[in-house]
Amino acid sequence: MDLQIIDGKRFIVCTVTSCTCMNGKLYGRVPCPTCGGTARTKGGKGKGRCRKCFDGKIVSTDVLVVCSRCNGSYEVKETLYNSTPAEIWRSLDFKVNRADRGITWNESFLGVGCVWSSCDYGRAAAMSDEGVIAKIKEYDSAVQAISFCCPVEGSSRVGLVADYIGIFISREGYSVRPVFNGDVDSVIRQIKSEPSEEMGRVIGAVVHSLGGNGVLAAAGKLV
Ligand SMILES: [Zn+2]
Ligand SMILES: [Zn+2]
Repeated sequence: MDLQIIDGKRFIVCTVTSCTCMNGKLYGRVPCPTCGGTARTKGGKGKGRCRKCFDGKIVSTDVLVVCSRCNGSYEVKETLYNSTPAEIWRSLDFKVNRADRGITWNESFLGVGCVWSSCDYGRAAAMSDEGVIAKIKEYDSAVQAISFCCPVEGSSRVGLVADYIGIFISREGYSVRPVFNGDVDSVIRQIKSEPSEEMGRVIGAVVHSLGGNGVLAAAGKLV
């Protein structure tokens, strides 16, 4: 993944990444020696199914075949769903937004529309802006580029990067959300439209009792 600046706007451009195979190869499958490739037991013992295999074949470390994912090249195309290299993540702009509010159900349980969210029992609320930003920048788990990019022309391989990454701190935690077009107000409206954690429990229970997806219903109107 590369970060490119075109006309003052930042784009994530996907490149290639290493395949998950072994240098373009994978272990092959050979007929199961127990059942001779039939996947059945002799004389229908057990329930008639070979216990050593699933479909008459087993993986053999003696046989290498060309990987079908990368066709042996050991390279696969990245998409915006791949995780962002730490140096790109750290080079983004971050801004803190504080509000005297509780955590929402969505922030607590789902994180829809968020890069991620956390219930930290007020730790972020007690920290300085600089301290919070440093902590968020250091986040070393996988951040999918799609969570802070807007795909360009429907492409899953080029994304317009958000103006900045907003860190929305409440009394009980925070959510990390992309802010596009300088429109932080729409993000704040979104947060306000999300039911509180307590209200979410009530809505979720009611919807669930009616046979619906209570968790999603409790998340509110989601982006
Ligand atoms: Zn077998
Ligand atoms: Zn491969």
